[in-house]
Amino acid sequence: MHMPEPDSDVIERRDEICATLRTIIPAECVIDSVESMRAFDSDGLSAYRQLPLAVVLPETVAQIADVMKWCHQNGIKVVPRGAGTSLSGGALPLADAVLLGLGKFNKILDIDFDNRCVVAQPGVTNLAITNAVEDQGFYYAPDPSSQIACSVGGNVAENSGGVHCLKYGLTTNNLLGIEMVTIEGEILRLGGKHLDAGDYDLMGIMTGSEGLLGIVSEVTLRILQKPATRRALLVGFEDTESAGKAVGDVIGAGIIPAGMEMMDGLAINAAEDFANAGYPRSAAALIIVELDGPEVEVDTLIDRVEVIMKNAGASSIKVSQSEEERTLFWAGRKSAFPAVGRISPDYMCMDGTIPRRRLPDMMIRMASLSQKYGLRVANVFHAGDGNLHPLILFDANEPGELERAEDFGGDILRACVEMGGVLTGEHGVGIEKRDLMGIQFTEDDMKQQQRLKCAFDADHLLNPGKVFPHLHRCAELGRLHVHKGKMPHADIPRF
Ligand SMILES: Cc1cc2nc3c(=O)[nH]c(=O)nc-3n(C[C@H](O)[C@H](O)[C@H](O)COP(=O)(O)OP(=O)(O)OC[C@H]3O[C@@H](n4cnc5c(N)ncnc54)[C@H](O)[C@@H]3O)c2cc1C
Repeated sequence: MHMPEPDSDVIERRDEICATLRTIIPAECVIDSVESMRAFDSDGLSAYRQLPLAVVLPETVAQIADVMKWCHQNGIKVVPRGAGTSLSGGALPLADAVLLGLGKFNKILDIDFDNRCVVAQPGVTNLAITNAVEDQGFYYAPDPSSQIACSVGGNVAENSGGVHCLKYGLTTNNLLGIEMVTIEGEILRLGGKHLDAGDYDLMGIMTGSEGLLGIVSEVTLRILQKPATRRALLVGFEDTESAGKAVGDVIGAGIIPAGMEMMDGLAINAAEDFANAGYPRSAAALIIVELDGPEVEVDTLIDRVEVIMKNAGASSIKVSQSEEERTLFWAGRKSAFPAVGRISPDYMCMDGTIPRRRLPDMMIRMASLSQKYGLRVANVFHAGDGNLHPLILFDANEPGELERAEDFGGDILRACVEMGGVLTGEHGVGIEKRDLMGIQFTEDDMKQQQRLKCAFDADHLLNPGKVFPHLHRCAELGRLHVHKGKMPHADIPRF
């Protein structure tokens, strides 16, 4: 994995740059000692580490704007960072870039039940939003498994999802407004507490932009009323293909569960060892289905799902009888990643999406790839929305295993695109999938995406080296086709 060559002139000016930053924001908000910067040298993709030029931890939006403005005027790159849980390396520092951390923006600014929304600073954790409103019977629906740690600003930048996104949508569907700071230091407001904005959907562009277009400095999130009843089923299968088919059967029957997750045998046993959730240890696959709504509706849906699962060949079915039991069913799934961490020295979590009807084909492909590379894989899926999270197990101390795991992961993502899916469901492209973008997008597609990037950040100062395998100069992308000496739309200002 190659990153852009660091600018040695900038690195040589490090002391001078840090001294100037200390005149722009309080001195204690600039960190430049190697020991202190170690805490920021990677994100959740911990196979890659890099010390930044300096870490800045501003305390106000005005300070973010001042840092951005100065960096822009002086050609210094900026890497935004929330909680650093990205699994695609989006927050990996660069040697010649300032790492701008949002950790001090940890306050909920407004809880507005009348408008059913919460306004929060970007460093607030995802779970803190639900914690702040649950006593009034509300919650925030997108629930990444990292919700105890990841920040809402990071959620916007990655368009994060979770177990309950099948029914309630991803971050983009639950975001009403943002405040952002551009690389020029301009503070913009997009959307608000209302449902739709009257102009271009710039908020849609910012959501999932992986820190390449601007800094999210405030978010307005939709909150929902907690459903009256929630119950979950644990359904065991003796083969993974039947389980994969059952997922499509439920949705095909017109039922949208609140969540529908799948785990294979390796993941089931790791999670059971970790959480004692009552999972069927001998099953080759486990589906967890949650139904929510009024009690009578949930009871009817539970009956219908049971029938569908039996018809698909389920070997065991358990229905939660209490809220404690429902929570326990989820505890295993929610701790699946750390649980798998106990059975292998290292693992790599992949993230691709396929049409859910292709789940059985994917299970077969995954088994044959596991054999080809001689590496075990534990499968954890947001099965309802076709989002795969295969965990490839390897030992980084064994020469060549990391590279083999990366090649295995690359083949999984190729298979996703080949089966009509996409490279990422929710973890983003970052550096992890950057060099695979060409599998999904043509060179023209990527140039078009970069034109958008150029509109926000013409000098490529924000998070360079992420998402795009090759950066084109903005002037080159704006190249004109001048026909017979005539410039089209000569009145439009050019950059
Ligand atoms: C155990 C585990 C489980 C996970 N489960 C899920 C899951 O179920 N679903 C899911 O979607 N993800 C999951 N993730 C991935 C990760 O938690 C999400 O991508 C999360 O949204 C990242 O938030 P963060 O605050 O940690 O962002 P960071 O990791 O700090 O940054 C992520 C990206 O966002 C940019 N960024 C961060 N903050 C801002 C900001 N304020 N403005 C502009 N850009 C910004 C960064 O530059 C980077 O490109 C998981 C991660 C772990 C470690």
